[in-house]
Amino acid sequence: MPATSNATSSTSAPVAAHGAGAPAFDDEAFVYHINIALICVLALFVLLRLPRFLARFSDFSDFSGLIIRSVPPSQRRPTRRVEFTSSSQDDDRSGLPQLPSDDSHMMYLEKQHARRVGPDGNVVVSSYPPHVSSTPQFLRPTLLLLHKRLMPGLSFSHICVMAAYLGFWLYAGFYKANPFTDAVRFGWIAVAQLPWVLIFATKNNVLGFLLGAGYEKLNFMHRFAGRLTVLAVNVHALYYLYKWLMAGTFTNSIANPSNTWGLVALVCMDCLYFFSTPFWRKKAYNIFILTHIPSVSLLLPAIVLHKRSTFNWVIATVAIYGFDVLIRLISTHINRATIRPIPELGLTRVEIPTLNHGWKAGQHIRLRVFSTGMGLLGWTEIHPFTIASVSGTEEGMVLYCKKAGGWTNKLYDLARSTSNLESGIRSSRFFNSSSSPSSSLDVGRKISVMVEGPYGGPGHRLFHSFSSAVFICGGSGITFGLSSIQELHQKDLLGKSRIKTIELIWVVQDPSNLVPLLPQLTAMVQQSEPFTPLRVRVFYTRAVTGKVPFDENFFKSTRLTLSPGRPKVSKLIEEVIETTLLPSTPSGGGGGYGARGAMGLSGPGRKDGEKKKGLLVGVCGPVGLADSVFQEVGKVDSTRRDQVGGIEVHEETFGW
Ligand SMILES: Cc1cc2nc3c(=O)[nH]c(=O)nc-3n(C[C@H](O)[C@H](O)[C@H](O)COP(=O)(O)OP(=O)(O)OC[C@H]3O[C@@H](n4cnc5c(N)ncnc54)[C@H](O)[C@@H]3O)c2cc1C
Repeated sequence: MPATSNATSSTSAPVAAHGAGAPAFDDEAFVYHINIALICVLALFVLLRLPRFLARFSDFSDFSGLIIRSVPPSQRRPTRRVEFTSSSQDDDRSGLPQLPSDDSHMMYLEKQHARRVGPDGNVVVSSYPPHVSSTPQFLRPTLLLLHKRLMPGLSFSHICVMAAYLGFWLYAGFYKANPFTDAVRFGWIAVAQLPWVLIFATKNNVLGFLLGAGYEKLNFMHRFAGRLTVLAVNVHALYYLYKWLMAGTFTNSIANPSNTWGLVALVCMDCLYFFSTPFWRKKAYNIFILTHIPSVSLLLPAIVLHKRSTFNWVIATVAIYGFDVLIRLISTHINRATIRPIPELGLTRVEIPTLNHGWKAGQHIRLRVFSTGMGLLGWTEIHPFTIASVSGTEEGMVLYCKKAGGWTNKLYDLARSTSNLESGIRSSRFFNSSSSPSSSLDVGRKISVMVEGPYGGPGHRLFHSFSSAVFICGGSGITFGLSSIQELHQKDLLGKSRIKTIELIWVVQDPSNLVPLLPQLTAMVQQSEPFTPLRVRVFYTRAVTGKVPFDENFFKSTRLTLSPGRPKVSKLIEEVIETTLLPSTPSGGGGGYGARGAMGLSGPGRKDGEKKKGLLVGVCGPVGLADSVFQEVGKVDSTRRDQVGGIEVHEETFGW
């Protein structure tokens, strides 16, 4: 607020501070150069990620994940199939679907005779993607420290990035300046950070694209830069407020329009900060959002009206936001969706068959529902949900929305309100009335939805470039596991996935939670053969009071198990490493589990030769689950880690 008789420009205060004879210190130019230095550091990060960026886009199909679209069936890529050249198929004389069992080496024999066949009848030639490890081998020992979680969702590496950013602005604040007298400097520090605050927050931004990091991964920096900006604004303002109060000129000074707008900007900033605290974000997300938008809309013009020379900075900030809004508009679709309740899991399944292309496993969209059943203002809310289905299939987009609060509860109730249904329809795909106790709710309701995205996801990390994968999902985090595994299966049929074995660990509260997804999981286990065997382990954490809703012999297969308690993640990862290190089978499939693996099968045409390309650990669910998985992965012996080519953890958490 420098528009007073004492401090009228950005340069006048420093002149006074440094003595009448000292040359004026240009605060604006100084913070501008601080920003240039920050850009250089970020460019270095982008450069370090360049090999992964190039590896990702070396395959044109990896441009998918940028724009969701609707592809008519006639334009869909013909699917590949698996063909068996021996009589092994005839071995299954029962005609009933069987889960693969470790006790038999039948699948190994199948593998020997199985091959991927294209739509033209020709055998598919495998070509695996380049694998670029996130960390060179000699730096792997540092990962234990870098990934160590110091706070929920915040690792040591996050803290290092924040500390480096803080270092730049501390330097900016204290270089030839005194925070108690050089208030103008702090005004400029606040203004110069505005573009960063927006870059770290916007859903679509160039930095995230180049780094291969979704907005939700950069959000910690948005919060940190935002807090530093609020601090700088308050230091700037308090100096003048104190001075005017001491001099008894407050009323006169604040009446100056420039200072009035300065006060407005201060109130907006403090409002933003107050309503962004975890209390509001967790307890009343709507208030957090509703205060954010008007505060920012008023803040930016208020800054310019307070000091005209901030115009370029504010325009840069608006441009970043404008770009985001433009891309959001382009990536927004309004469609009809079918919603169905899944009582066992307390969630709503949302199916949007018309949107069937353009996302990658692990990405999420933001969903808005247009229905009076969501309340008068229900349409104003937009919520993120991970896509549970795989792109390019007839099924289209599928979401699972867990009851977590006001909006998701209303969505569930809407799906359940089967009475007076104008357009209730029976489900033919999802519910299996023989296995699901919820068959009475085997209906869907048509609603209009707005889908925006896709966002987030694996970025430059190519899941199919690894040697093996473990997915650890908590509750509704299974959405990530389902889509990732199906996508790997899809790539495998195209001969593009190097993954040899996949392990899915799903932690639920109650064994009955498994019931609705059992048909799908069983089918996935079956489809994973013969090339990339999948093992599914479900853990339930609550003591069962009644009867477990499964027949005693149901889990005779060791490829789909149900166990009480929590998974011992490090032990399970050790087991997967063991399997990965087994030689591949002739057709390039996994080394196999148990007896098959112990047979020590080997042969030509392996997926990864002798050198392993790493183990991917994908985790999805609450922040606490991701934190514990990072901790468990840290326990894996470093020799084993190197043998498997390194372990990379990819997290998709339902919060920030
Ligand atoms: C990237 C991402 C992916 C997600 N994927 C899934 C999924 O596949 N399935 C699933 O069941 N849940 C998912 N969630 C969580 C889901 O978005 C929230 O449970 C839902 O928004 C809660 O809204 P509510 O009004 O019912 O609950 P509220 O009581 O308003 O909030 C419950 C919790 O959700 C958070 N939340 C509320 N609204 C939003 C919002 N608009 N954006 C972000 N967080 C919000 C709040 O901070 C609070 O911690 C995901 C969240 C994120 C951030």
